[in-house]
Amino acid sequence: MANLALGLHGGCGTLDRSLMSEDDWAESRQHIAQALRAGWAVLKADGRAIDAVQATIMVLEDSPHFNAGYGAALTENFDHELDASIMDGATLDAGAVTSIKRVRNPIQAARAVLEGGKAVLLTGAAADQFAEQAGLTMVEPDYFTTQRRIEAVKSLKQRALTGTIAKASEAEKHGTVGAVARDSQGHLAAGTSTGGFNNKPLGRVGDSPIIGAGTYAKDGVCAVSCTGQGEIFIRRVAAYDVAARMIYGGQSLKQASDILVHETLASHGIGAGMIVLGAQGNPLAPYNTLGMYRGWIGTDGRMTVATHHDLYELGDA
Ligand code: ASP
Repeated sequence: MANLALGLHGGCGTLDRSLMSEDDWAESRQHIAQALRAGWAVLKADGRAIDAVQATIMVLEDSPHFNAGYGAALTENFDHELDASIMDGATLDAGAVTSIKRVRNPIQAARAVLEGGKAVLLTGAAADQFAEQAGLTMVEPDYFTTQRRIEAVKSLKQRALTGTIAKASEAEKHGTVGAVARDSQGHLAAGTSTGGFNNKPLGRVGDSPIIGAGTYAKDGVCAVSCTGQGEIFIRRVAAYDVAARMIYGGQSLKQASDILVHETLASHGIGAGMIVLGAQGNPLAPYNTLGMYRGWIGTDGRMTVATHHDLYELGDA
């Protein structure tokens, strides 16, 4: 019997404390804890890692604090194009959707694609339609829109006009949520869901729905979900590179994920983060920015959540 473990991220960046009230920061940590509890309940009941990943991500998608589902980033046209993917490390089965607009929980749509078995990646209106036919809860596109994201796009457009875009905080620009889990059978899974980045060009697809770039899981090796500027993660095949370093290079999970985040991805001058989990042991959450929304329940069943440097130990899950 393997040790149960669960980890999540809710995006990395400067996480400027002044952008939200202390109550909001506390609420975001509560939502991280809720998400972990949802996934942990699945694992404790001898459920599958992939179900735990999905349950965890759905809670984050329903929270306005994270850039996925409700409260997701907006395109340059002030609408939403949502991306998600999920992978089962036991079978290497995977499902993903890009640029969907009407599925309340995009991670469920990714899972439906996986279960459908005919495709790994569906895009746009056809993906929305597929999800509807699969019986998922559909919403009007403006369900996802929050005032905070509208303000962020306005501010980014203003910065573009005044040439101060480099000063925009990471939180203004992007985010993303992701989870990794190991179940009682020792199987691994990973998933990622995002609105991409604020003010993104229409039709832009990042790494989050790309298997191997933003998400990867393989039993006996690792499960990985990434956050940061997706273009670089695609070019570096980042999530799979963690696995490849372990398989072909004999690196540990910590070595492989630290090299990706602090050297490979950092060499492009981007903020980057990951939640990763190995065949045994606890999740790791490397990031090279000032903060990353993150949390995990380790093999001892104890929960930790964090946004910035400080860790909040919440005791037994
Ligand atoms: N990786 C996401 C994307 O490029 C954004 C992020 O994680 O911040 O769509």
